[in-house]
Amino acid sequence: MSGRVLLVYSPDLVEYDHGPSHPLRPVRVKLTHDLITHYGVVDGERVEERPARVASDAELALVHTGPYIEAVKRAGSGESGEWWRYGFGPGDNPIFPHMHDASARVAGASLVAAESVVEGGFEHAFNPAGGLHHAMPEAASGFCVYDDPAVAIAWMLDHGVERVAYVDVDVHHGDGPQAIFYRDPRVLTISIHESGRYLFPGTGFTDERGAGDGEGSAINIPLPPYTSDEAWLGAFREIVPPAVRRFSPDVLVTQLGCDTHHTDPLAHLALSTRAYREAARVLHELAHEAAGGRWVATGGGGYQWARVVPRAWTIYFAEMAERELPDELPHGWLELAQAEGADSMPVTLSEEAPPARDGGAEIESVLSDLRGRLP
Ligand SMILES: [Zn+2]
Ligand SMILES: [Zn+2]
Repeated sequence: MSGRVLLVYSPDLVEYDHGPSHPLRPVRVKLTHDLITHYGVVDGERVEERPARVASDAELALVHTGPYIEAVKRAGSGESGEWWRYGFGPGDNPIFPHMHDASARVAGASLVAAESVVEGGFEHAFNPAGGLHHAMPEAASGFCVYDDPAVAIAWMLDHGVERVAYVDVDVHHGDGPQAIFYRDPRVLTISIHESGRYLFPGTGFTDERGAGDGEGSAINIPLPPYTSDEAWLGAFREIVPPAVRRFSPDVLVTQLGCDTHHTDPLAHLALSTRAYREAARVLHELAHEAAGGRWVATGGGGYQWARVVPRAWTIYFAEMAERELPDELPHGWLELAQAEGADSMPVTLSEEAPPARDGGAEIESVLSDLRGRLP
């Protein structure tokens, strides 16, 4: 039985909003929270909910430079400047009102999750608004302003945690945490994603392994387009649990992007919710087996904001809380989703997987390459 489990959520998290025509829809986090609560997973006893807080400048500076934090503040309060130097501009990373506060709150929500697991007596904690894994120390990138997983990891290292394993299952390479801890032997980063040959950010190949003292502390599993449940799970099970066990972390941090779904509009993998259920089970077991039960989880990408994201993250959170959920989605929640503009909604958590169309040879060559590089 898990110990105490925390969901970090407050309505103000949806202020992280790049505007109405941007694919990252903040309402997906609200609908996730709504689905988790409609299912009754948060019971106020063993499973609690607590609000986000705004990360301080000093906390953000564990990862980001002073000039960058200053630029985020000034750009978001309407000042003009050469903000493109910091990755901002039309397209992926438009400047939006109150950008600093909204972004520092997402990072603060991951800090609440980290604090509660490291010092607060919780075993597992989930910040569905987090997982902004493309932000770099001095640049916004890929819809991400502050790198909340990296800030949470750096905070833990500052508070007595000696080793952290970061596992990133988003369809995009987790380039931010990898770059930030590339030379740090205390942090193992593992990313399983659609290969950078086909998809943003164009990195995450098997030969990126860490450097200096951190040599061997980065692992990448780049997969071809159309990889489906079985092949994805095969690669995940073969590489991730043994590497995390070998590393023997104090805390497991996971980025749970669900833009791997076969209907996601921004990428080309072909997973179904079955893969999320199985990945959740494996990660949960791993947290207990290899990390003393300490598991800090964040959301991540996911652009099917109504049909997929809330179901995917509810599946993960129910696993953390050890709750079996009825497959049929609650009516009240479907009505809420429709009120937000959702249509053609699924009515169950489970679903039919698309026909497998795996690039078996390409996956096998990635795995055999990794087998040769790992101890
Ligand atoms: Zn547990
Ligand atoms: Zn992504």
